[in-house]
Parts: sequence; C-alpha cells; structure tokens
Amino acid sequence: MSTVRHHKVFIIGSGPAGYTAALYAARANLSPYMATGSQPGGQLTTTTDVENYPGFPDGVMGPEMMQLFEKQAVRFGLEVVYKMVDKVDFSSRPFQLWEDDGSAHTADAVIIATGASAKYLGIPGEEEYLGRGVSACATCDGFFFRDQELVVVGGGDTAVEEATFLTRFASKVYLVHRRGELRASKIMQERAFKNDKVEILWNTVVDEVHGDGQGVTGVTLRDTTSDESRRLDVTGYFSAIGHKPNTDLFTGVLDMNDVGYLNVKAPSTYTNIEGVFAAGDVADPIYRQAVTAAGMGCAAAIDAERWLEAQEH
Ligand code: FAD
Ligand code: NAP
Repeated sequence: MSTVRHHKVFIIGSGPAGYTAALYAARANLSPYMATGSQPGGQLTTTTDVENYPGFPDGVMGPEMMQLFEKQAVRFGLEVVYKMVDKVDFSSRPFQLWEDDGSAHTADAVIIATGASAKYLGIPGEEEYLGRGVSACATCDGFFFRDQELVVVGGGDTAVEEATFLTRFASKVYLVHRRGELRASKIMQERAFKNDKVEILWNTVVDEVHGDGQGVTGVTLRDTTSDESRRLDVTGYFSAIGHKPNTDLFTGVLDMNDVGYLNVKAPSTYTNIEGVFAAGDVADPIYRQAVTAAGMGCAAAIDAERWLEAQEH
C-alpha cells in the first residue's frame, strides 16, 4: 500500500519563484518539499546569458543560475523531486496533491510557482534556434541584437511593445502581423507607427525560420492575401503572440483572470483559498522577469510562514 507523505509547505515549480520560496521556507524551519515539474529550473534554463539579475555583474548563464538557486535552497534543507504535480484537491485541509508517478501527498500550505510559457508558432526552425536568434523576451535578449535586423511576430500589446523596445538596439524591426489591423491599444500602435525603425508587414505570416547551424539567418514570409512567399534576411526572430500561464491544473479550483493567470490579493500572494499562495509568472501578467518572480517567491514563503503560525494559535 502506498503511503501518503505530509509536508508543512509543498512548492509546485522550480523557477526563480519556487526556489526563492523554498530558500525562505527552509530558513524558517518549514522543511519545504518541491516538485520541479518537467522543466527543472524553469524558463531560464532555455536561455543563455542573463544580464539583468542583480548580483551577477558579468552576467550568468540561465541554466547555471538556476543550479545555484537549487544549491542554495537545498543547503538549508529543501527536498526536491523531479516530478510533475498532476492533481490537487484544495477543498479541505490538509491539502492533497498527487504526482505523476501516482504518489500522494498532503500539505498544510501550498505555494504555486508553475510559471507561464511563451507561446510559439510551432514552425520549422523555431525550436532549433531557440536561444540562438529565436526568443520570446525582448527585455531579456534585445541587447544581443545591436545593429541587426529582426522580426517580431504578433499584433497585440506585447508584440508592439517588444518591437518598439527592440529598436533601442536593432537597426530595423519588422513587425509581422497576420491581419490588416493591430490588436494593440491605440497608444501603443501610435508609438510603433511613429517609430522609423519599425516596419509593419500586414497580412503576413512567418512559415519558417532559417539558420546556418549557429544562429538565425532569415525567415520565410507569406502574404495571406496573395499567398505569395518570400525570404527576408534577419538575424533575430521574436515570438510575441502571448503567454500561457501554467494553470490548467487549477481550473475551477482557484480564481484566475480571463487569460488564466492566478489572481492574488496583491500586494500579498494569497489566492482565494487560504493556505494556497501563488508567486512568479503564474500570477504576474505584467512584469514576468526572474527578479520579480524571485521577489514574489520570497513574499509567498513569508505569507505562508505567518499564515501557518496564525493557524497554530
Ligand atoms: P518559470 O521559470 O516559468 O518556472 C515554472 C516552473 O514550474 C518550472 O520549473 C516548471 O517545470 C514548473 N511546473 C509547471 N507546471 C508544473 C506542475 N504541474 N508540477 C510541477 N511543476 C510544474 N527574465 C529575466 O529577468 N532576465 C532574462 O534574461 C530572461 N531571459 C529569458 C529568456 C527566455 C528565453 C525566456 C523564455 C524567459 C526569460 N526571462 C528572463 C523570463 C524569466 O525566465 C521568467 O520571468 C521567470 O523564469 C519566471 O519564473 P517563475 O519561477 O515564475 O516560473
Ligand atoms: P494578445 O493581446 O492575445 O495578442 C496576441 C497577438 O498575437 C494578436 O495580435 C494575435 O493576432 C497574434 N497571434 C496569436 N496567435 C497567433 C498565431 N498563431 N499566428 C500569428 N499571430 C498570432 O496577447 P499580448 O499582446 O501578449 O497581450 C496580452 C494582454 O496583456 C493584453 O490584455 C494586453 O493588453 C496586455 N499587455 C499590455 C501591455 C501594456 O499595456 N504595456 C503590454 C503587453 C501586454 P490577432 O490579433 O489576429 O488575434
């Protein structure tokens, strides 16, 4: 018969939010337990240089940074398992959680740090050149494209904001949008229209990303009205068609906004269920940075610690 293990604090997810929550919870003697999910270390393991995380003046490789996060939390007593949580029951306490190998757990408090995943088109070459010219984060990677020509795909606020931001570095940014009208807010549109370095390619889609084995060298564009294809030489390709928060597990259980981000009672990390906290990109449709995720992870551990203490009295 399989046994059910009990934890004071169960952390779901192993990005900057999860590991920072773990560090603080471990140092508060809460013996945290973490299921890493299918991407141990989170989104930063898919990138190369991280140059905007304080404390690393020469930058740090994303995977190395996340190994350091893990090492620091484990040093203070974090228990890590490399499994997915695939079912939760938060209807009564202690909360119940199940992992993908069928093992069952209970927890007094849960911290959700499952992140959000950038959406990609799924076209040939996109995955192959991820981190080598393909990106979904202009704030993170724009700096590497100084004086280069780039493509940004999408027509919403993210795409227009990223395209405009990228002109600080790039010599030219092609904003490729599948329709003849942007979805972005008017004020954002005006900024793009006024920017000489942004050229909008209307009614156009990207069918393929090309590379030379080292990095991106171009894309195949298709005009959706004439169905004609052509090649455009660029060295960067940014997908900006939206992010999907990893919250399917909590549908019908926790309050979310209309696109699936968990609602927290800001500035705290409380969800609508007492004892269940959320931190990082999963609860942040706005900033989505490693340092903000880490900050929220810290807040979630402190919220959990204080909430648990209040329960004891
Ligand atoms: P994530 O890092 O998204 O981690 C989520 C974790 O949850 C993963 O470990 C995943 O396996 C786990 N998980 C998901 N579902 C489950 C489940 N059911 N059970 C268990 N675990 C689960 N930000 C910066 O500040 N600087 C940068 O330079 C930078 N570069 C980036 C480059 C790229 C290519 C990308 C994609 C993002 C970049 N970002 C950067 C953004 C940054 O990575 C995110 O803001 C940050 O990782 C969010 O941290 P998080 O802990 O909230 O979630
Ligand atoms: P979004 O509003 O959903 O826009 C996604 C864009 O990508 C749309 O233009 C969509 O085209 C396009 N797209 C989606 N799937 C595609 C595909 N398969 N192929 C080609 N194009 C595709 O997402 P978002 O821009 O990330 O914005 C999300 C939310 O955050 C919005 O509420 C937005 O206002 C907000 N936001 C605000 C700011 C800001 O205020 N500064 C910045 C960023 C985001 P269609 O238009 O044809 O559907």
